[in-house]
This record gives sequence, C-alpha cells and structure tokens, in this order.
Amino acid sequence: MRHYTEITCKHCQSNDIVKNGHRPNGDQRWRCKSCKKSFQVTYRSNAYQPGVEDKIDEMTLNSSGVRDIARVLKISKYKVMSHLKKTSAK
Ligand SMILES: [Zn+2]
Repeated sequence: MRHYTEITCKHCQSNDIVKNGHRPNGDQRWRCKSCKKSFQVTYRSNAYQPGVEDKIDEMTLNSSGVRDIARVLKISKYKVMSHLKKTSAK
C-alpha cells in the first residue's frame, strides 16, 4: 500500500513541489516551482516550528521580556529580537 502526504509550499501554498536535496543533518529539503523558494516540511530547531511567532506576539502583549520569551519557548533571544523588529516595522 502506498501512502501519500500532500505537501504545500509554506510561502505560497502551491502544490508544485520538487525535492531539493537534504540539509547537512539529513532532513529533506523541498523547492516550490511556482515561487522558486525552498523550505523544509519538518524543522528540528524550535525557532522554526509553526506557531512560534504567534507565541512571541502573545507573550509580548502579556509584557514578557525578550529573555523571558526565549527561555520559555526554548529559542534564542536573537530569534525573538529579529521577529519583534520585523513586526514592529508594520
Ligand atoms: Zn511557493
């Protein structure tokens, strides 16, 4: 029995995906043929898990500091800073 999982591009939600080699740690990389960007389906780093950026926003609204957030979410304070800088420009 063959089993398929549908993979969509995390940048443009297209289905036109091709394999694009592996990361040095062995994870599969994928490339989108529509937007030409590459991505992974699973990330080992906590900073790249889906929903982390929403949690950063939420904790910031509840007046947690940068180092609080980094400690609780087990990500680096640089990830928190770069996300806050990106969103504060809006
Ligand atoms: Zn895409």
